[in-house]
Amino acid sequence: MAKLSVRDLELTGKRVLLRVDYNVPMEEKNGVMVINDTTRIKETLPTLELLRAKGARVVLAAHLGRPDGKRESSMSLAPVAAKLGEMLGRPVAFVDETVGDKAEAAVAALKDGEILLLENVRFHAEEEANDPAFAARLARLADVYANDAFGAAHRAHASTSGAAQAIRAQGGPCVAGLLMERELKFLGDELDHPARPFVVILGGAKVSDKIKVIDRLLDKADTVLIGGAMAYTFKLAHGGKTGKSLVEKDHTGTALAAEAKAAKKGVKFLLPTDTVIADLKDTGKLNKKGRPVFEFVNPRVNVGDIPDDCEGFDIGPETTKAYAAVIAGAGTILWNGPMGMFEDPRFATGTNAVAQAVVAATQDSGAKSIIGGGDSVKAVNKAGLGDKVTFASTGGGASLEFLEGIPLPGVLALDDK
Ligand code: AMP
Repeated sequence: MAKLSVRDLELTGKRVLLRVDYNVPMEEKNGVMVINDTTRIKETLPTLELLRAKGARVVLAAHLGRPDGKRESSMSLAPVAAKLGEMLGRPVAFVDETVGDKAEAAVAALKDGEILLLENVRFHAEEEANDPAFAARLARLADVYANDAFGAAHRAHASTSGAAQAIRAQGGPCVAGLLMERELKFLGDELDHPARPFVVILGGAKVSDKIKVIDRLLDKADTVLIGGAMAYTFKLAHGGKTGKSLVEKDHTGTALAAEAKAAKKGVKFLLPTDTVIADLKDTGKLNKKGRPVFEFVNPRVNVGDIPDDCEGFDIGPETTKAYAAVIAGAGTILWNGPMGMFEDPRFATGTNAVAQAVVAATQDSGAKSIIGGGDSVKAVNKAGLGDKVTFASTGGGASLEFLEGIPLPGVLALDDK
């Protein structure tokens, strides 16, 4: 069901509480907290520009880090207000309180088109507890509730859920921001009615993490391509040897059931035919958890059983070629999870080649490509291809839950169109 959006409302003089995802990576440099990556701030600019054009008085609520309900100066949002002001080219006010008299006074001082950022909502334990009294105090700050924080929408917290209910109880609308609207369009509507063939690429560490997504997408996909460590559990399920590769022995049945469902539904289900393995060399060192640290040496392509003392880290060239050919013919592509341990450049070849194939299908044959969040988005960005796909989700856990078909509290909280 489509959700009401900021675009649908007349907002002149209205106080809009906009929940945003400003959980940006920061580090301390010479005693000052510096933002390392402004992507999440940038993603909210279109909504903020629209709200300004509509004459709204914008009150931003966000969390940063895990302060566990206590004020923690290194997790203050003050540097984010300064950076946002820089990026917008006009000042953004900041109040070092989330709710209360000072926050209310700061909101009352806003003029049409101005923006105020509240202090970190997670400085209050009531935020994560979705405490109704705290939600009501947030609701006092606004006439309208809007949410652009798709990445936090799988949490039923006060700023993602309770405040919306409280504002609705005051008679105010609860709407999606432009970013939220795009997430719902691409991960929702576009995948519900995909241009065919619909090719789903799934990778990452564990079958158990992705099985619900696999199961749901088997109802819609034409072809499923499997990569990442997850593929080794399938290999094991077929009686293959997987050496020291990451496998889930107790999920071989899950893997076989997915394949059986694919066969029943007429969905092509492709598994890697070759893999990149490496030898494990004990460094004699222990990690923080007291476990031995290994180096991965002598990477090479392997077909068939993986030797006992080796580990698999990437899909091989034959698999990459076969997957690229399927991707080239796709009408819609959904990709979730890397094809290997891409953080190590020696094992990023398969993931990068799949990213290139997805971009080529998008640019050359007009396929719709949707990157479903988390590490696959990181991998696509690392390859410098983030702006060459149709849509890259900003959610990690939220994207996965949405793709599993779980209703997200932050989405449920918004008004239907
Ligand atoms: P996920 O969060 O489930 O999408 O998994 C992403 C993680 O899986 C990344 O950190 C990858 O390094 C890791 N990964 C993917 N393939 C492998 C592999 N063959 N061996 C070990 N880790 C892998």
